[in-house]
Order: sequence, then C-alpha cells, then structure tokens
Amino acid sequence: MVIASPSGGGKTVVRSGLLKLNKKFAFSVTCTTRPKRPGEVNGKDYYFVTVEQFKRLRRDGKLLEWARVHGNYYGTPVKSAVDVLEKGRIPVMTIDVKGARSVKRIFPEAVTVFLLPPDLKTLVQRLRGRGEAPENVAVRLETARSEIKVASTFDYLVINDKLAETVREVAAIAELETRKIGRNLDKVRAFGSQLAKRKTF
Ligand code: ADP
Ligand code: 5GP
Repeated sequence: MVIASPSGGGKTVVRSGLLKLNKKFAFSVTCTTRPKRPGEVNGKDYYFVTVEQFKRLRRDGKLLEWARVHGNYYGTPVKSAVDVLEKGRIPVMTIDVKGARSVKRIFPEAVTVFLLPPDLKTLVQRLRGRGEAPENVAVRLETARSEIKVASTFDYLVINDKLAETVREVAAIAELETRKIGRNLDKVRAFGSQLAKRKTF
C-alpha cells in the first residue's frame, strides 16, 4: 500500500496508526541521504546513507524507485518491499508523490492512496505544529502545488481530518483491495477443480 501526500499531509502518523492497528501492515523502510533527525533510528525510520552509497544502490538496480525531495535523495530498496511481502504482510510505503507514481507504473497492482488535510489552513497549522521553520513551510506548500496536480492518478483519496478515522479508512481500503477478484483467482480455481473432480453431488 503506497501512501503519498504533500509534506505535512499525515503520511508518517497514518503509517504509525496502521502498524499499531493491525500486525498485517509492515513498514517498508526506505533510504535517504538526509541527516538523521533527533530520535530517528537507522533501519527503523530510514536507512541513512551517504550520497555515494545512494548512487551505488541506484546504479546497481537495488531501488524500486527514487526521488530527490527538498535537496535530498530518497529511495525504496526493492529488498525492503520484497521482505515484507514474503512474510505475507502488506508493505506500507510512505513516499513522495513522484515515487508513488513510479511504483504504480512498475506494479499496477499496487494500491495508491493520496492523503489531504481538510483544508490549506489545517496543513499550514500542522506543518508549523511539527516545528517547520517558515521558509520550510513555504517550500513545502510550493511543492504541494505540483503534487496535487497529479492526485487524479491515485486510486483513492482520503481526507485526513480525525486521525483515528483516517487510519481506519486506509485500513478498510487495504482490506477491500484484498477482496478484488483478480487477487483471488487461485481460490476460485481451487474451488473449480474440486467441483470438476466431484462425480456426484
Ligand atoms: P507527513 O509525513 O506527510 O509529512 P506528518 O505525519 O509528519 O506528515 O504530519 C504532519 C504533522 O501534522 C505532524 O505533527 C502530525 O502529528 C500532524 N497531524 C497529521 N495528521 C493529523 C490529524 N489527523 N490530526 C492532527 N494532527 C495531525
Ligand atoms: P522527510 O525527510 O520529511 O522524512 O521526508 C520527505 C519526503 O520524502 C516525504 O514526502 C517522504 O514521504 C518522502 N520519502 C521518504 N522515503 C521515500 C522514498 O523512498 N522514495 C520517495 N520517492 N520518497 C520518499
């Protein structure tokens, strides 16, 4: 499940909520060249890498997608998503809008959710509340202009008003998506072959 939004839209807190709500969600850790913020843990919040390491990963085809956001490189290691899938869990990718579109292009079956706050005033309050300096708020809002232009390419829109409700809605989308017939044809076929083998009823 790919969750994108303008910066401050709530990706990080919605992701935490999903992971707490249900063990089937697992964070697919991404890598970044930006410096670690206080409290962040390498391997848990991000894999913190140098620009050289990042470029090597990219060159060696180890990244599912990558983007440059606010001057730093970010990328999703293929292994990070595959490890989660192999454990039978749903990878939660909280990445920027461009990255989300790249994932969708490569894996059309990926579910993409676009988060928006109820209005611009709320977004500004949340960015300020997170401690962003005024110039950072301005840069993020400027970027948001281009990000919302591509929102129509996402599968779902969720308005992040009350956090608990947002988390429930995103979880419900994930749940419903697992019921798509195209994702369950093996079960249909298994039932069909039982029917075929049965001579009498
Ligand atoms: P993103 O990861 O998309 O940049 P965050 O998850 O960091 O956004 O959210 C930005 C700020 O807004 C954080 O301080 C977060 O706690 C707050 N926030 C996000 N969603 C809500 C919500 N529904 N209600 C109240 N505060 C929220
Ligand atoms: P931050 O530096 O605030 O943690 O993240 C900045 C932006 O980069 C956020 O929009 C975040 O979701 C995005 N981001 C984080 N990891 C990745 C990634 O692997 N790929 C892409 N494309 N964006 C990412």
